[in-house]
Amino acid sequence: MFDLGILRPNQYLDSIQNIDFAGLKEKGIKGLLFDIDDTIIARRSDVIGPMLFNFFENLKDQGFSVLLLSNNFNPGRVERAANELKLPFLATVFKPLSFGYKKALRILNLHSPEVAVIGDQLFMDILGGNRMEMHTVLVKPISREIAWYRKIMRFAEQWVLSRLAL
Ligand SMILES: [Mg+2]
Repeated sequence: MFDLGILRPNQYLDSIQNIDFAGLKEKGIKGLLFDIDDTIIARRSDVIGPMLFNFFENLKDQGFSVLLLSNNFNPGRVERAANELKLPFLATVFKPLSFGYKKALRILNLHSPEVAVIGDQLFMDILGGNRMEMHTVLVKPISREIAWYRKIMRFAEQWVLSRLAL
């Protein structure tokens, strides 16, 4: 049978607020690639807010290089979020394909083992990160899904997570 191991995140947490960044730093992580939709803000919201702004300022103060890596087909949405958060970004990168991750490595001037991928989608963020041999952190999606195709994907994700005993 297909080995589900490539889908296993290194960590599975409720939200980005629960990530132990000091612990990541101890593991040698220097760069953080954040998914946007349903990882840092709800898919149908573009409200950033001071809490999120401070969250990323704090990570920069801790010495992390941060980049927003989004599959969103609306580069304007991604750019607005990136501008508000004062972060570099890459949009429409077709995770889990590797070119976006590779481009992010070049921008941040880091190697794969120095980078953590943080996202809510197992078959996109995590699969892509694992294939790149980056540290992967799965978080629970912020909003309830309404698009039928992503509902199916979330159902499949839950099945995989139960098989992986996560
Ligand atoms: Mg997402």
